[in-house]
Amino acid sequence: MLNLGCHLSASNGNAAMVKTALSIGANTFAFFTRNPRGSKAKQENPADAAKAVAMLKQNRFAPLVAHGAYTMNLCTADPEARAFAAEILTDDLRRMAQLPGNFYNFHPGSHVGQGVEAGVEQIAAALKQALSHDYPVTVLLETMAGKGSEVGGRFEELKMIIDAVGSSDLGVCLDTCHVYDGGYDIVNDLDGVLAEFDRIIGLDRLKALHLNDSKNPFASHKDRHECIGQGSLGLETFRSVVNHPLLKGKSLILETPNELPGYASEIALLRGMEI
Ligand code: FE
Ligand code: FE
Ligand code: ZN
Repeated sequence: MLNLGCHLSASNGNAAMVKTALSIGANTFAFFTRNPRGSKAKQENPADAAKAVAMLKQNRFAPLVAHGAYTMNLCTADPEARAFAAEILTDDLRRMAQLPGNFYNFHPGSHVGQGVEAGVEQIAAALKQALSHDYPVTVLLETMAGKGSEVGGRFEELKMIIDAVGSSDLGVCLDTCHVYDGGYDIVNDLDGVLAEFDRIIGLDRLKALHLNDSKNPFASHKDRHECIGQGSLGLETFRSVVNHPLLKGKSLILETPNELPGYASEIALLRGMEI
């Protein structure tokens, strides 16, 4: 069975998300650890988290893929804002300890003109600090579309971060819309892209995928998600992805422009494609 789910609203707590996931045929899901466009985090509720953990176990969920806030830029130019972002990262990982054994994915950051190397150095410094606490969560860097000064639009850039952090535990989440927008042709050569990922980063680092179609053409560096099968990637690309032997068992997360009924249909569609 595919480990498949979608992005859910965290506003009613963790146990409510598991319940919602079950109602739409999901066995994993994603959620924002705090306001996606701000820094405010919700009040912690250990009883709710414990209930969620029990439900996840009972229903044999695959690892969840929490998502850091978009506003958390670990390589912003202002040192004070950068230090604040690093604190947010550490706090997010601490919060993930309530749901142990899951993934936490985030956008590496935008270097805002400082250059990729400076950006990588700053991202790695924040990660080293956050990972030093050894919270029971695996951190994933998301592959980006290479919009503006985003770091992580090339596999080489993610590898630079991984090397600078020096942790065997740091993983990657591959976003299908982002990599295609970023110039990796998963439509015509999924095997080739995965081989390149393996050569540069190593497939052992690949822990999760975001399944999104794209509103824009190949290598557009735009990052606008489309519903599955309705964009430039097309249905056949997703059939290849969910059936690829090298991607077997990964947590697959939809971040398509849908409400719950739309997500339920896409989950059913993709489950129906599994050979
Ligand atoms: Fe993302
Ligand atoms: Fe994504
Ligand atoms: Zn995106």
